Amino acid sequence: MAKKYNYDLIAIGGGSGGLSVAERAAVYGKKCAVIENGKIGGTCVNVGCVPKKIMWAGANLAHSLDDARDYGFDIENKGFDWAHLVSKREDYISGINNWYHNYLSDSNIDELQGFASFVDKHTVDVDGKHVTAEHIVIAPGTTPSIPDIPGAEFGISSDGFFALTERPKKVAIIGSGYIAVELAGVLNSLGSSVCMYLRKEHLLRSFDAVLRETLLEEMLDQGINILPSTQISEVIKESDGTLSLCDNSGNKYTGYSELIWAIGRHPNTDGMKLEAIDLQLDDRGFITTDIYQNTNIDNVFALGDVTGRAPLTPVAIAAGRRLADRLYNNQHDRHLDYKMIATVVFSHPPIGTVGLTEGEARKEHGASVKIYQTRFTSMYNSMTRHEVPTAMKLVCIGAQEKVVGCHVIGPGADEMLQGFAVAMRMGATKKDFDDTVAIHPTSAEELVTMK
Ligand SMILES: Cc1cc2nc3c(=O)[nH]c(=O)nc-3n(C[C@H](O)[C@H](O)[C@H](O)COP(=O)(O)OP(=O)(O)OC[C@H]3O[C@@H](n4cnc5c(N)ncnc54)[C@H](O)[C@@H]3O)c2cc1C
Repeated sequence: MAKKYNYDLIAIGGGSGGLSVAERAAVYGKKCAVIENGKIGGTCVNVGCVPKKIMWAGANLAHSLDDARDYGFDIENKGFDWAHLVSKREDYISGINNWYHNYLSDSNIDELQGFASFVDKHTVDVDGKHVTAEHIVIAPGTTPSIPDIPGAEFGISSDGFFALTERPKKVAIIGSGYIAVELAGVLNSLGSSVCMYLRKEHLLRSFDAVLRETLLEEMLDQGINILPSTQISEVIKESDGTLSLCDNSGNKYTGYSELIWAIGRHPNTDGMKLEAIDLQLDDRGFITTDIYQNTNIDNVFALGDVTGRAPLTPVAIAAGRRLADRLYNNQHDRHLDYKMIATVVFSHPPIGTVGLTEGEARKEHGASVKIYQTRFTSMYNSMTRHEVPTAMKLVCIGAQEKVVGCHVIGPGADEMLQGFAVAMRMGATKKDFDDTVAIHPTSAEELVTMK
């Protein structure tokens, strides 16, 4: 260890990114500390992926119960106990929190509870106590944004959604990104009446058209109300406790028991005194980093959501591990390739997507783009009254038809894409897909049999 400092490495933030860089550095024998001012595990464990996936699984069961009748089961759904699921979910999360506390202690990583701010480029203040390190990694994540309009405070964010102890009756969700879509799906499936308000025209704007159009159609079919091009400008709390929303065009929407803002997230850098080290931020306030997670200060690095790039847990983890490999294991060029990152939207049905959308491919590769597309009803849904659509698209380029985009929506899409992402990173062509013997009968087999 560099004796001048208390630690070789300090990670600010005990979420996916901060934990990963410290864990890997400790494996290389480095003395590390993680500073966390909230709950260990960060957003993913406490108010993100983990509780979301559990709620999604519960919502899926509601659909399965409906389908069960179509398969001949004589069952009656006598209701759903929201508090029961939330309480079990929180117990599960506490288990993960405890696992992390033990893991850090077993790995000889110090866990410093408190809020970190910079004193100088090697010194961090943690609630009044100064600690020093040779390398400091900033990974404080992001926070849900709430708009600056009258009455906005009557709404909650995704954090507030996870704090709900009973099912809201009628919910307005403002936003069109994946978090808005996922919460809308969960609430609707579990029995709330849901209306989504989109500022622009489309849901999931950055996703391939086949995904957003199929999902929109299906969400409407499931009874979710979706109002595009609607800018909410005021929220009013009525005397009966319900919320009303007013839009820019003078319309008023009434009777909501809950309003959820899902309009984006901003970096968690307030109060960190980044100006003490002249840290460079981009025009949205995210920390500027190069492909090696370097900031403009030589011993200070940043990773995860605070860098504004691909805000996903496995991305933060991968960036953290690669940074430690580079700093402490002589892997001088080790860095994360931010291209071809597969991702899932836990909608109903789910979406799995990796690589370029058709629009992006046409912009980058022009006439050499070839599209293969299919839409069908899965065998499972051929027995059910509600025919959930499955749609798939392969985006290929050049004479070899290299597969540069793979987009799937439908039951099982969430578990389908990981392996295809490996093949695509290895440069798979349409012929490689076609030469792969199908697994029958599955929906995934369509991906290797598309004409
Ligand atoms: C509702 C929701 C659902 C999501 N679902 C998925 C999903 O399905 N799959 C997926 O891959 N990703 C998902 N994400 C994104 C994922 O949670 C983030 O990408 C990931 O948590 C980012 O990790 P991070 O380390 O950058 O930040 P975080 O996990 O946010 O961790 C940052 C930590 O730093 C702490 N902190 C902040 N400032 C300070 C300070 N000054 N001093 C000390 N501590 C500080 C915070 O308390 C926090 O614990 C979801 C996010 C949300 C909100």
